[in-house]
Amino acid sequence: MTVVAIDGPAGVGKSTVARRVAAELGVPYLDTGAMYRAVAWKALEDGLDPADESAMEELIGRIKFELRIREAEADVVVDGFAPGASLRTPRVDAATSRVAVHPRVRSWLVARQREFAAREGAVVEGRDIGTVVFPETRYKFYLDAPLEVRTERRLRQLGGLDADDRESLRRQIQARDKRDRQRRASPLRHDASYEMIDTSTGAADQIAARILASVRAAVAAAER
Ligand code: C5P
Repeated sequence: MTVVAIDGPAGVGKSTVARRVAAELGVPYLDTGAMYRAVAWKALEDGLDPADESAMEELIGRIKFELRIREAEADVVVDGFAPGASLRTPRVDAATSRVAVHPRVRSWLVARQREFAAREGAVVEGRDIGTVVFPETRYKFYLDAPLEVRTERRLRQLGGLDADDRESLRRQIQARDKRDRQRRASPLRHDASYEMIDTSTGAADQIAARILASVRAAVAAAER
């Protein structure tokens, strides 16, 4: 079973690359950020504070959470409803990195991530995939790029905003990265077991091709 772990900070282009790698390898793609986002979205819907640990523990105890495969990727469904694009608003961005600090929320989602990948392998994208969720996989990639490059990418995704928006978006990304890097439970980090890739130097296609070449070379070496 092949599990490819792709980690890195916000706006680095992980999703586009991960989706392409998954399609080439013929395994499903799992966006774990969408899972944390779904919990944050539900918390906001219910008027709860994402920073309130006991409220978040109570929330995960009562919601029905599913990963539904659609076109080789997992859609997150909460209590029968797929929030889809509502998971991508700046408000949900900020709430998500607050929800993601709670250890019980993390372990609850990690169990689902492992279950999902155990079926037929997967390309799994997130912050702690190679360090905590699948530390034993041999295929670990850490994507990184300067904050300015990542801000521009997010800006393009949001359809282009003016200069004030650019500055506020830059600060939001910076704050989110800081929370993700400094939290106690499963912070964003990498170690020597990762292949490091700077995504500011190439298009998504080239980066996906580089990851595929590495994975295929490792598979071939293991079979020799
Ligand atoms: O990848 P994405 O930007 O959608 O992730 C949203 C947030 O979810 C991150 O900023 C982080 O706080 C959290 N997250 C996490 N662990 C993961 C994936 C996402 O803590 N494996």
